[in-house]
Amino acid sequence: MADVIASARAAGRTLLTEVESKELLHGAGIPVTRAKLAKKAKQAEEIAEEIGYPVVLKIVSPDIAHKSDVGGVAVGIDSAKALRKAFKEMMDRVQAAAPGAHIEGISVQQMATPGTEVIVGATTDPQFGPVMMFGLGGVFVEVLKDVAFRVVPLEPRDARQMVREIRGFPILEGVRGGPAADLGALESLILRVSDFMSQHPEIAELDLNPVFAYPNGALAVDARVVLTEAAS
Ligand code: ADP
Ligand code: MG
Repeated sequence: MADVIASARAAGRTLLTEVESKELLHGAGIPVTRAKLAKKAKQAEEIAEEIGYPVVLKIVSPDIAHKSDVGGVAVGIDSAKALRKAFKEMMDRVQAAAPGAHIEGISVQQMATPGTEVIVGATTDPQFGPVMMFGLGGVFVEVLKDVAFRVVPLEPRDARQMVREIRGFPILEGVRGGPAADLGALESLILRVSDFMSQHPEIAELDLNPVFAYPNGALAVDARVVLTEAAS
């Protein structure tokens, strides 16, 4: 845990890669699909064999915050052959889209069952310190700004209120035959992130986007941690 932050500091980086971010979060008991870094296609293949197909490939670069913007995410890779092709194509695409970026490699992770996409985040407010954010994924956050905020540290009651006060809450309850989300699992994930932020003042920003909400449980499939500028 300390290693991930220390090595980013030593390299003068504030943006942690998804692989690093998920190591930290996994260590804090937050449910994530862990991602393993492969430098070469052969190594990615070995990791995929261990995890089991289908897998997801993602570009790993401290210079790229939004991976799909540069063609750096490939889901549903279902064989070694598909993986080799996707690996090469992703490298070519990303190098063309982000020519200056330092590429560490490509990560391999389990392909999660789709769920209702929600976002759990934290930012640091100059006045209030760390603040938690919760909302539904996609257009709900981007277009409708349908999000709830609470100042860290959260009490269980705060997490309960957060998930219920967004306008899109009926979607989590299950509308038109859609499955109801496990609200308890979402609340406990929010509380764990709140604890994590309290314990790590060196973290300026955290984004779990998306978290898949299931009828039973919740799982973050993407994670981004940003450290504060000043060394601490
Ligand atoms: P970005 O850096 O562009 O936000 P993400 O890691 O969020 O990249 O991946 C883009 C999309 O791919 C996600 O919103 C999600 O729908 C899907 N995705 C990412 N990882 C997984 C996974 N492990 N299992 C299933 N779907 C995934
Ligand atoms: Mg994302």
